[in-house]
Amino acid sequence: MNSARNAVTVIGLGPMGRAMAAALLDRGYAVTVWNRTASRAGDLVTRGATLAQSPADAVAANEVAIISLTDYAAVDAVLEPATQALDGRVLINLTSATPEEARAGAHWAAGHGAVQLTGGVNSSPTGIGQPESYAFYGGPRETFDRHRPVLEALTGRVDHKGEDPGLAALHYQIGMAVFWTSLLSFWQAIALARANGLTAADILPSTAETANSLSETFAFYAERIDAGVHLGDVDRLAMGLASAEHVLHTSADAGVDTVLPAAVVDLFRRGVAAGRGADSCSALVELMAKPGK
Ligand code: NDP
Repeated sequence: MNSARNAVTVIGLGPMGRAMAAALLDRGYAVTVWNRTASRAGDLVTRGATLAQSPADAVAANEVAIISLTDYAAVDAVLEPATQALDGRVLINLTSATPEEARAGAHWAAGHGAVQLTGGVNSSPTGIGQPESYAFYGGPRETFDRHRPVLEALTGRVDHKGEDPGLAALHYQIGMAVFWTSLLSFWQAIALARANGLTAADILPSTAETANSLSETFAFYAERIDAGVHLGDVDRLAMGLASAEHVLHTSADAGVDTVLPAAVVDLFRRGVAAGRGADSCSALVELMAKPGK
């Protein structure tokens, strides 16, 4: 095993794993890689990476292995045959997971003598290695501190959220809850634009302006929601329902998919039916939250 600080293994060479291995090579790390489809390692090997013949060889090569796979089913498929190599290893697992999966993964790794630091990467592959990119971690603080230089080679900013290996996954999935619905809302907007003879480029300025204004809107509501305030002084849920119905009907009239706007209308209707029509749209949080939380 190579426990040198400048030698790392990367398992999983999708867009993310490839970007990570490349960023490590850029910074002078000796990188061992493994991927189910070996051909994806081509460029990295040309640049000096070593292609391991099996996951066990890849894990055995270095103290630290970065895992970047599609999901934890893939992690199980890759690491189960490599258990004999895990003792004494640090797994920096950046694979998307639920908090429960991340906790179970860390527990499983510990059972084979390995420490898992679970990460959530808040950056696209093009941002990897850039100073503004960001990732958060859950797991032993000592492991996070000791391997911080490797983590900072992947993303310029790193944050330790706590000892619980599920925390990084939780923060990551909270971010994804915003990301996927936001991106889908943009796809919905483009579908609606195209049905009306407009292109994505035509609507980019106005939709980007709306998206840019959201961080201020989030900050405004976050303070009120944490204080339990849902005053209808700025916006009323009944107004929100009427507005959401306009989006739904405009989509239906244009013949585009209505699943997304219909789900939005459904939530607003439930809010009005619950007697919150005169309150702020933020009152929907109380409907969506776990009772008592
Ligand atoms: P991909 O799903 O494109 O690829 C990940 C790797 O998983 C591939 O190397 C693939 O191997 C491997 N894999 C999948 N299933 C199996 C299996 N059953 N056995 C062995 N290997 C398997 O993911 P990305 O590279 O895009 O992302 C990696 C992780 O990072 C994901 O969890 C993702 O959610 C997260 N992430 C991705 C971002 C992005 O923008 N791409 C942004 C932030 C986080 P093969 O090449 O053989 O198919």
